[in-house]
Amino acid sequence: MAIEQIDDELETAAKTIPHWYSADDDVPTLVDGDGVEVFDADGTAYLDFQSQLYCVNAGHSNQRIIDAIADQLARIPYVSSGKHNDTRNELVTRLLEVAPESMSQTLFSISGSEANEAAVMLAREYADAPKVLTRWRSYHGSTYGTASLTGDTDTRAFVESRAAMTGSEKFLPPIPAAFDAESPEELAEQAANHLEFVIRNEGPDSIAAILTEIVAGSSGGFTAPPGYFDRVRELCDEYDILMIADEVITGFGRTGEWFGAQSEGVQPDLMTFAKGVTSSYVPLAGVMMNEEIADYVVEEGFDIGQTFAGHPVGCAAGLAAMDVYEDELIENTRSVSPHLESRLGALEDRFDVVSSVHGRGLLWGVEFADSETGEPFVDPRVSDADNPVKTVLSAAGENGAIFGMGRPGIQLLVSPPLCVTETEIDEAV
Ligand code: PLP
Repeated sequence: MAIEQIDDELETAAKTIPHWYSADDDVPTLVDGDGVEVFDADGTAYLDFQSQLYCVNAGHSNQRIIDAIADQLARIPYVSSGKHNDTRNELVTRLLEVAPESMSQTLFSISGSEANEAAVMLAREYADAPKVLTRWRSYHGSTYGTASLTGDTDTRAFVESRAAMTGSEKFLPPIPAAFDAESPEELAEQAANHLEFVIRNEGPDSIAAILTEIVAGSSGGFTAPPGYFDRVRELCDEYDILMIADEVITGFGRTGEWFGAQSEGVQPDLMTFAKGVTSSYVPLAGVMMNEEIADYVVEEGFDIGQTFAGHPVGCAAGLAAMDVYEDELIENTRSVSPHLESRLGALEDRFDVVSSVHGRGLLWGVEFADSETGEPFVDPRVSDADNPVKTVLSAAGENGAIFGMGRPGIQLLVSPPLCVTETEIDEAV
């Protein structure tokens, strides 16, 4: 192929592939960051109310994390995952101090997708069953396995007709649009009854695990109605199914607790984490598990090591980030989140086009209604022209604020770093 032809193709690809890096589109090139703010090459400041991808929990350029990374690099930058390393050992101990009580060991990974993939592989081996149940309106990653587990249609599209992971079955999320409930209690009951129907229909013996986010992250910031997760736990116990919590977004203070499961008072059997563990300064992820599964890992020698799993530089960043969360930011999240909730809640009264606002801690979804019918969008395939989220995102960008877009493109996601102040919340809203 001629060089010019390759150039042409790359140029076309740069315009059509969303994550393809191109210098000439209208997305700002970010060169600097400080706390909640990021700066483009011209020095324009943006309030980062997306924490990039719901992951820079400690804010940008936190010096304690940067110093810890530098110290680790100067001491010993890499120790293979099959050997002991002091920083890695320390992080394991630290994670167990703050995780839900049911957790007793950690298997490190590199990304959230790989952590979920490992959790599912382990659950299927341990339970000796092929199926995993996940929710529509969920996101669990972009590898073949985790895209299959994901319930959002745009991610699934890539695997649907090709190498989808077999045994990945879906159930309805506990959201008002999926049921006909008159109260949150009724919604919890209907959604849990539906899940039980799916379990019985699929055959409990064929199901290894139920995998859910605790607060749905990129698919809309929706929380479960009170009591729902208690019923999920009960169903898991009754039918002998493992409960896996995907804490990739909800971990590390985002909901005002160390982990989302703690905000629901639920004890998962397996739990995955990534993003916030290092405030995303360097990649690190992992799977935490209960004692029985940890014993199984040791006895059966379950080993899916990856070269960069539990990288010491990531572990050093993790330890420092956890200090920052403990010393300042979990408390700050608890203190400022009611303000964010009330400022966002006021949008619902003020604009007909806002149909609901939901979330927890510093993870919120603003859901839009069809301006003609006043009904919430339920079909994720809303066209760009009718999509109010795109309008808001581009107006926000012009005015110096960055928000996220829910996967189906019908919700705005609001998720600032945990160091955000009430003044910054006022500015962004
Ligand atoms: N799980 C959840 C809930 C996520 O939000 C994400 C990423 O956004 C993932 C898993 C996948 O993580 P990663 O992008 O690190 O592979």
